[in-house]
Amino acid sequence: MIEKNNSGELTNKDIRKIQNLISLLDVPFTAWGYCICEGDRLPLKFITLSESSEKTDLKDFALNNASVPTSPAHYFTALVETLNLSAPNLSVKHLAFYGKDKQQLGIAFIIGKPNTRITNTLNIIVTEIESLISTKSMHEELNMLKVCHRNELSNQKKHIDNLEQHLQHLKSENARLTRQMQYQLNHDSTTNMLNRLGLENAIKACFKSRTIIEGDAYLSVILLQITNGERIQARIGCEGFDTLLSLFEQKISKTTPHIHYYARISTTELALTTIVPSLDEHFLPNLCRQLSSVARKGLGFKDQEVHFHVFMGVANSYHTNNASQLINNAYQAAVSCKESGSLVNTYTEADHEEQKQFNQLEHYLLQAVRNDDLILHFQPKVDLSSEKWVGAEVLLRWKHPVLGDVSNEALIHMAEQNGLIVEVGYFVLRNAIDRASEWIEIAPNFVLSVNVSAKQICSPLFADRVLEMLTHNELPAKNLELELTESCLVSNFDVAYSNISQLKQSGVKFALDDFGTGYASFSYLRKLPFDSIKIDKEFLANVLYNPQDKTILRSIINVAKKLDKQVVVEGVETLAQHRFVCAEQCDIAQGFYYAKPMPRDIFESQLEKQYPPPKLYIIR
Ligand code: C2E
Ligand code: CA
Ligand code: CA
Repeated sequence: MIEKNNSGELTNKDIRKIQNLISLLDVPFTAWGYCICEGDRLPLKFITLSESSEKTDLKDFALNNASVPTSPAHYFTALVETLNLSAPNLSVKHLAFYGKDKQQLGIAFIIGKPNTRITNTLNIIVTEIESLISTKSMHEELNMLKVCHRNELSNQKKHIDNLEQHLQHLKSENARLTRQMQYQLNHDSTTNMLNRLGLENAIKACFKSRTIIEGDAYLSVILLQITNGERIQARIGCEGFDTLLSLFEQKISKTTPHIHYYARISTTELALTTIVPSLDEHFLPNLCRQLSSVARKGLGFKDQEVHFHVFMGVANSYHTNNASQLINNAYQAAVSCKESGSLVNTYTEADHEEQKQFNQLEHYLLQAVRNDDLILHFQPKVDLSSEKWVGAEVLLRWKHPVLGDVSNEALIHMAEQNGLIVEVGYFVLRNAIDRASEWIEIAPNFVLSVNVSAKQICSPLFADRVLEMLTHNELPAKNLELELTESCLVSNFDVAYSNISQLKQSGVKFALDDFGTGYASFSYLRKLPFDSIKIDKEFLANVLYNPQDKTILRSIINVAKKLDKQVVVEGVETLAQHRFVCAEQCDIAQGFYYAKPMPRDIFESQLEKQYPPPKLYIIR
């Protein structure tokens, strides 16, 4: 309750109460005042003008009527004055002042109109202020909320913008890295040509081209094997060789516009693709000629000129629409170049069939080797003077449940190609040495001959392995003979020589097989310590009807005898041939006339018949 005094002025208690309430308004500038009836004028009594609580009697302001308001106080004064003048009967008025940016600067209350019941008036002020306080705080809260919300929104927006930017950056970085990874995955890192995977992908894409689908053209892969590549690389280094390959690529692209993709599929092998117009039969031969001439012309490297020797294998898409198969076909065609000696070789339907059969056979052989399904047959070697079996040749036999008898030529050729020959070879040697160690009990000078292929004799540990097997089976080295053909020796003469010397020193015998069929049979006889030669059966086949073959055979026997080599003749099929080789003073003969290759048990029983155990005489 507001009290009143007699003069109508507010008591100090009233003023404090109002002041407390006003302070709750929490505005930078407040002023309040009240007036009591004093004639016409409204003498104002202001308690507070500003936050600084500077008490000023505004009467002066009101009277002086300040001109232009320069501060909230001035505004206030001016307004109060206006009020005084224009609305002298106003009882309670509150005024709010706002600055330029609409913030509230101050608030004032004027109690006008002479009012005898000042308590009522004051109560009205209190209510008014209280309502102001609540609206103000609500309003402020709302404003604050709005501001907060706005700030938060704008912060969030900023944050989202940042995130979006970051995401965008990550996306583009990711795309860049994916592109880089794809590139590395598909390219050779040093020459930047495609690699094998890249080539396959490029070919797959080509297969979708309209011209190929509609048959106006086909895709060809030309596989270039740089046969002297490894030697060049050893001479000029890997980096130098990479540079040369890039140079080669540039030269080809300058010479012919027809190559679409260049790929490096191994260190010394490139694969190129081209689209061949179906009706232009000269297109590919011309292109291959151009390629080989670029290779032959030479490439400048530092101050040297380097020439590439290339074999080219060509495969065409009408045989397969499988990219990987197409490259393999080209590869196979290139490998055949080595065998045939031609510079360019094209994959054909026949190759296709052969490949299929080969794959199947290869699969079966692998199984056979793993299951020990291979067996050995033995063909006796007959001493022509005594007509006794002095040895035997071990011949591999493979009877496949589906394919039947597989010829040794096919078997050995395949095993040589896929490297299985080493495994097959050790199988033969192990079993042969095992047999021989038993047979020397029957015939102590018996010699078992084993065929050895190029890959075996050229493998560095061959001699050690053979000697190990001999020791393991306690077979004297002199009872083992290894038959080598000339072709065995050409591939890596040095390693072969070292194996042969080591084994020879231990007492193992050596025979030069298929003598007379190669180019340099005699020269090998000089170079290597062979004990015997096996004259090829071709010579004997026609010897009785063909005087020339007879002459050749005679001279071979002569030379061999002069070189102190034992002469073995193989392929003796008839009595006439037997008589002939006896007359020509061959030492040992082998052939169907004496016996065909036979299984172990039959051979063993025959051998026992030839070498009956000495009769035991019991002396009493
Ligand atoms: P090769 O070393 O010249 O073996 C002699 C071949 O002539 C054998 O053929 C044998 O059965 C055959 N033959 C023997 N006597 C006569 C005859 O009177 N007339 C005719 N026409 N042929 C006769 P096979 O068993 O088919 O072996 C063929 C080739 O396979 C062998 O020729 C040899 O180069 C190779 N070979 C056989 N077994 C092995 C082996 O274990 N390892 C290696 N690396 N090659 C083997
Ligand atoms: Ca042989
Ligand atoms: Ca032979």
